Amino acid sequence: MRDFSADHRWLSLNTATVRKQGDLLAIIDACARHGIRAIDPWRDQVSLIGVGRAAQAARDAGIELSGYCRGGMFTSDAARRVEVRDDNRRAVDEAHALGAPCIVLVVGGLPQYSRPGSEPSKNIASARAQVEDAIAEMMEYAKTAIMPLAIEPLHPAYAADRACVNTTRQALDICDRLDPGRTGALGVALDVYHIWWDPDVLSQIKRAGKDRLLAFHVCDWLVPTTDILNDRGMMGEGIIDIRSLRRAAEQEGYDGYSEVEIFSIGWWARPMDQVLKTCIERHRTAV
Ligand code: ZN
Repeated sequence: MRDFSADHRWLSLNTATVRKQGDLLAIIDACARHGIRAIDPWRDQVSLIGVGRAAQAARDAGIELSGYCRGGMFTSDAARRVEVRDDNRRAVDEAHALGAPCIVLVVGGLPQYSRPGSEPSKNIASARAQVEDAIAEMMEYAKTAIMPLAIEPLHPAYAADRACVNTTRQALDICDRLDPGRTGALGVALDVYHIWWDPDVLSQIKRAGKDRLLAFHVCDWLVPTTDILNDRGMMGEGIIDIRSLRRAAEQEGYDGYSEVEIFSIGWWARPMDQVLKTCIERHRTAV
């Protein structure tokens, strides 16, 4: 297992962590100041400044990407299918232009939440089937750009509104069905916030193996959690055994970035430099 205590060379910043404090240019600037070598930007942040400018700014600062957030939200009613497909194709094009190593997929829950305006449904089985079909379709397009897709299983609390893929096992089952040859086109993004509670998680990380482990996200789970979306903890503030999860991934050969991704009303209220400084400290002591 890699020793993170002496430096933060394997820390990547998911840019949502400081999304309220500045735009992507300001974030890239701050990362350069703090010696952070990689980021995972969000599409809305990129689109505000333009893909070309975002790519240039990262290149100029010597910062690479650990992923691109995000593709997905595949579930919709029939009227919106083409729009969803094209939206995800644009995400692939952007990720390619930015030089991202993969696109993180948050697959969508029930259609009315995933794509507002869609006809309401309570059929989660049908949503899951739709997700799998849509990933298969997106893969064909992504392959032409050699852009791996990383399915992020989300905690079951998000099954209705964000993702109906809720366990690592479920995500890997999709990978095995759609990419049985393990070509590198499909894998998982593991976020400790979503997987820590799962009794199967360690055996599923083993099952994933190096070629399916495309990204690793860290933060912490606070007790109590006051907001299921925007009350994530800084690493070390909560109850996740982050190191055991990282050890399991690295035992399979995962050697990529450890990406700090904290959506938190509390952390968004603090100055960017203070947040980054704390991320770096906690990455050394708690990741
Ligand atoms: Zn994540």
